Amino acid sequence: MNNHVTVLEIDANAVLHNLSYFKQKLQPTTKILAVVKAFGYGSEAIEIAKIVKDHVDYFAVAYSQEGIALREAGIDTPILVLHPQIPNIEAIVKYRLEPNLYNFKIFEAFLNYANNVPLMNYPIHIKFNTGLNRLGFWHSDVPNIISTLKKSNNVIVQSIFSHLAASEDPNEQEFTINQINNFAYIVKQIYQHLGYEPMLHILNTSGVINYPKAQFDMVRIGIGLYGFGNDPKETANLKNTHSLKTIISQIHIVQPGETVGYNRAFVASRPTRSATIPVGHADGISRKLGNKDGFVIINNQPAPIIGNVCMDMLMVDVTTIDCKEGDEVIVFNHQQHIEYMAHKCETIPYEILTALSQRIKRFVKR
Ligand SMILES: *Cc1c(COP(=O)(O)O)cnc(C)c1O
Repeated sequence: MNNHVTVLEIDANAVLHNLSYFKQKLQPTTKILAVVKAFGYGSEAIEIAKIVKDHVDYFAVAYSQEGIALREAGIDTPILVLHPQIPNIEAIVKYRLEPNLYNFKIFEAFLNYANNVPLMNYPIHIKFNTGLNRLGFWHSDVPNIISTLKKSNNVIVQSIFSHLAASEDPNEQEFTINQINNFAYIVKQIYQHLGYEPMLHILNTSGVINYPKAQFDMVRIGIGLYGFGNDPKETANLKNTHSLKTIISQIHIVQPGETVGYNRAFVASRPTRSATIPVGHADGISRKLGNKDGFVIINNQPAPIIGNVCMDMLMVDVTTIDCKEGDEVIVFNHQQHIEYMAHKCETIPYEILTALSQRIKRFVKR
């Protein structure tokens, strides 16, 4: 840790707490898939995988490269690749990753590959679109999928799944229930004709919170592991996992009329102590947080960001804070702070977390 003053601290116990919080909402037989895409929501996918692997049944990543990194780190839990691409099929098989097959193009490409190798009973997953209109087969594709699958013993359907479009939104309850019912209807037809019964899953974090009856055989928990319940009451039961800490690099005293930072955006109206902090928009701290919209915490007090956030630095007003160069700065260490940042940036905590640059050193607190 010594030569990195800026550190994103990942709290292993908080991750485990959050996982068991969701586990307690589930039937004892419901499997858990931990979503570790996008570097574990901006943390460290391999570390998150190591922390939770003995307590989950599956991992999911978005792209095959992310799954390969987990395998190379020695993770042998089954890994679902949510958004595989045809050029990656060979690597997917080489690393024992399990592809989501979402349209006929990749479905046929994978079956061809499996037939040529040949593979025997290779685990695949099939996704249906029930209203998100992003990835997945349509209901009307079922007969075609079944007849193709029946001709092959190269693959075995490990699971059938879908994804909710607005599971966090109480105003969209009717739409969501409709998605769940459509999914159940599609599955019934597949079960009738396939000859075996793959696992089923449709819920993400807020789905588990709002529609626990639709947990089927497995749930896919992403943001919940990282401390956000998509609802303030639920988030309060979860622990913060990502804390961004750094130090004060330098303190300047600026006189009334003098300015701080690019474009001279902050103009001092009184003698002002400005502290320079070594994180900027290249680290994922948005420029939208400049000019007093955002703040950091120094010696337990909020220090507002003054002027524009620079690429590698930002400046904060510490006029009324007892502090000196080298003191610790907490950029955030609580979900409410991250939610505040998201609100000011007109986004959601998912984006604040995943935007944290790979330049920032990650450190796991155990
Ligand atoms: C990202 C993702 C999830 C996880 O969603 P959270 O809201 O973070 O729990 C689940 N399923 C799919 C298909 C996803 O892409």
